[in-house]
Amino acid sequence: MRYFQQLLAFASIACIGHASAPDTLAGTSVITSLGASNLTTGAACACNKLCALYSNLVIFPSSANYTEQATYYWDVRADLSPACIFLPTTANEVATAVKHLVQCNAQFAVRGGGHMNFPGSNNIDGGVLLGFNNMANYQVNEDTIDVEPGMTWYDVYSALDPYGRTAIGGRLKTIGVPGLTLIGGVSYFINKYGFAMDNVVSYEVVLGDGSQVTTDSTTNPDLFWALKGGGSNFGIVTKFKLKTYSMPHISTTIQVFNESSTYAFTKAVCDWALADSQSPVAAGSVLTITYNVTTKEMSPSLLGVQAGVSNPPSEFKNFTAIPGVSKIHNVTTGKQWASTLDSPKQMFRVMFAHHSMIPDADVLYSMIETWKNAVEKISDVQGLYPTFVANISPASAARVAKTNGIGNVWGLDDEPLIWWQFSTGWDLQQDDLRVEGWARQLTEHLHGLNKHKGLARDFVYMGDAGEWQDPFAGFAPANVQRMREIRAAYDPNGTFSKLNWGGFKLGY
Ligand SMILES: Cc1cc2nc3c(=O)[nH]c(=O)nc-3n(C[C@H](O)[C@H](O)[C@H](O)COP(=O)(O)OP(=O)(O)OC[C@H]3O[C@@H](n4cnc5c(N)ncnc54)[C@H](O)[C@@H]3O)c2cc1C
Repeated sequence: MRYFQQLLAFASIACIGHASAPDTLAGTSVITSLGASNLTTGAACACNKLCALYSNLVIFPSSANYTEQATYYWDVRADLSPACIFLPTTANEVATAVKHLVQCNAQFAVRGGGHMNFPGSNNIDGGVLLGFNNMANYQVNEDTIDVEPGMTWYDVYSALDPYGRTAIGGRLKTIGVPGLTLIGGVSYFINKYGFAMDNVVSYEVVLGDGSQVTTDSTTNPDLFWALKGGGSNFGIVTKFKLKTYSMPHISTTIQVFNESSTYAFTKAVCDWALADSQSPVAAGSVLTITYNVTTKEMSPSLLGVQAGVSNPPSEFKNFTAIPGVSKIHNVTTGKQWASTLDSPKQMFRVMFAHHSMIPDADVLYSMIETWKNAVEKISDVQGLYPTFVANISPASAARVAKTNGIGNVWGLDDEPLIWWQFSTGWDLQQDDLRVEGWARQLTEHLHGLNKHKGLARDFVYMGDAGEWQDPFAGFAPANVQRMREIRAAYDPNGTFSKLNWGGFKLGY
């Protein structure tokens, strides 16, 4: 990204002149994060066409707000250098853009909240970036909300706050609605309402030929199903209709523990994952263990949330019983809670790595110990910020899709899972490969041990995975086959497989 300011200055000149030739910029030298290259004919053609149509919505490297847009990412590794950035204001403009991108054979990327963390997941060097910052309108209905893809989850919770309602979405403030909802979506109410994708009533979609369709349980139902967990493989969603639920108050807890409580914490994590009820109190958590390479101390922590006013929240009693460094309980609103949980742009360089397992406290504890010892091997990496994350996927969450008549692409069995993850932050580009190699090797080693013990499961969540992992390999095989058939029907020319960079792509 540090190169983007050196990008071609010609671009804005061509735009102001409404470029008569579509490939005015083609062949112009562009410095990307991969080095110098020629701007492709396709990108030049598309940037010029978009600029001719919507000159005030297209940003070039010489534009004043290019840097702001090109760094609208949580992970600095995702900063790349697009040839131009298009900020549509309507679905029709998105559809027109897709037609021109296809006509020009231009590679492009799509960005919502910018939280997917690896290079190329939501940005592109030398291609066209579509950002949704200008599409953040919403409409609150009786028990749904219509949401455009430029909204963050805090925007959604804020919109619903006056009505005492909430939607099923992200656990931190600035995560985007589109990315999280298209890959699944772990919320604070997972045990009762399932995943964010299970709570989408309809999608409005721009397909790969630039046409627009609505999908719901009766209209284009196969595409409706495929969008529930299928990521960026089928189209660009321009509106989500999400279910909402009455939730005037939530009960929250923030608990931090000493290293000496790590086993008790691990046991509470597993018991929490195993908890199962046909009519649970809606609740969810963020469970992490950080390791400080200077003090050599681990620190487990819990963010817990449940519906209602029980104080402290009853669902987390096993954690509350463990002596801790600090415990803060509160009864508040979803909007107020989310307002305190920012995940700002340009946080870190971060490598994710993850697998799934059946809960087993002794095994999970030994994995945490192994991880802690392994972190020491890279403790000289500047700015190292190692975190072990345990995301809970309870049996009741999988049951929502099994019983709602629609399902989702995952096809999870209704068994409790712990999605264990290393989230490793660091400072310098020079350490990228070292951290990635470390994370890959350790993750696969621990997953291999769990396979031997019969505890491993193949499911990999796109929101927790490293870029080198293949989440589709862990979905039910029949579902992957069905996704391919749906892709062939709705995107026969492969716009989202050949031209669109981004996220995890369904192979062939
Ligand atoms: C700090 C942090 C906290 C997180 N917390 C949670 C959590 O609580 N629960 C959870 O489930 N996950 C969580 N995640 C993972 C998160 O859900 C994913 O990274 C998700 O992709 C982010 O969505 P976004 O819109 O911000 O992402 P983006 O990076 O903007 O988009 C993600 C992908 O979706 C595609 N996309 C974006 N908009 C559209 C669209 N309109 N149509 C089609 N494709 C589109 C992009 O091209 C990209 O491939 C977290 C991640 C981070 C970094």
